[in-house]
Amino acid sequence: MQKILDHWEKVIEDPQTYLEELNQRTGRGIVGVFPLYYPMELIWVAGAHPWELWGNAAPITKADAHMQSYACSLSRSNLEAQLDGRLDLLDGVVFARKCDTLQNLATIWENLPDGRLIDVMRFPVNPGSAGAAAFLRSEIIRNRDRLGSLFDAQMSDEDLSETIRLFNRLRRGLRTLLSMRASTPKTVGIRTWYTALRASRIVDREEFLEQLEELLDALGEPDPEPAAPRLLVTGMIPEPVNVLLELEAQGAVVVDDDLGIGMRSVATDASEQGDPVAALVQQYLSRGPCPTLHNDAHDRPAYLVDRAERAGVDGVVFFRLKFCDPEAFDYPDCKEALDKAKIPTLLLETEWQSAQTGALRTRIQAFVETLGSGEAK
Ligand code: SF4
Repeated sequence: MQKILDHWEKVIEDPQTYLEELNQRTGRGIVGVFPLYYPMELIWVAGAHPWELWGNAAPITKADAHMQSYACSLSRSNLEAQLDGRLDLLDGVVFARKCDTLQNLATIWENLPDGRLIDVMRFPVNPGSAGAAAFLRSEIIRNRDRLGSLFDAQMSDEDLSETIRLFNRLRRGLRTLLSMRASTPKTVGIRTWYTALRASRIVDREEFLEQLEELLDALGEPDPEPAAPRLLVTGMIPEPVNVLLELEAQGAVVVDDDLGIGMRSVATDASEQGDPVAALVQQYLSRGPCPTLHNDAHDRPAYLVDRAERAGVDGVVFFRLKFCDPEAFDYPDCKEALDKAKIPTLLLETEWQSAQTGALRTRIQAFVETLGSGEAK
């Protein structure tokens, strides 16, 4: 188990070396994917390898010449990586147009000397409207065909269904791991589940699935664990990771998440039967609440309260990347609903590049102290 985690951490630390080696070994082209919800099955079935670009902690200097410094550090750090050559190994990038920042960044990217923008997946602005499914279907088909012609791939519907089966297995495995946090949160601690989530967006998917299944077998049936304050974490991505780890250092355990890189993206499978494009459309339209989905039918505040109560948590921690507007717009209503349900909350506003985390540490310590030992649960 330790060997697998160490391998994944090495890949997260230096994805370029791993992916260059993967490219040489398998011949698969590498496609960068801007989160969130781009159907990575389309890249895999075209014979390429998707690397979901969740940002990085390297200092940002060059990107500021192209993009305002009050954009989120996920988008700015990816742009910086492109500008200083760390994305040279890519055959191109695809964008999921999930927010204003990404919409603008796709245009900037397209105009970079070596931007290699493959396509932008536009999603229905109103997923509840009558035309949403047809619109998304045409977007998926255009993206699929563009990837197919870039990689010279002949893809049948059965090939796409087969790929959907692979990605469903991957999501199911991750869900199994994440669900183990509720019963044995100390055994499946932050290092284990968060490393798995990050690595699942980089590592060869078949290799990752094998390693994940081996890790799940090794975890077996752990013994019951002593009480500790139980937390739900929410947001896009909880970086820097040392802030996330501080929750455990202060004696709390994370038993559930509502993270973009976590449950939000692995909770929903696509149907393995029938038309695979329709399956991907349906998967997207049936996703749970997320501020990037703009779904009027979703009541995210009520959903968060319900999720927190089901998981029996003592508190909810909001990880908000600075300047992430979708998350910021949702926050007041979510906090109000959790306050009404008497569930304590903590808002941590971070950037990938946050180096001074002392003040955040103090706030986490104070928050966990107010939650007590968690014995009441
Ligand atoms: S603003 Fe938020 S949703 Fe948009 S790219 Fe940044 S982190 Fe993602």
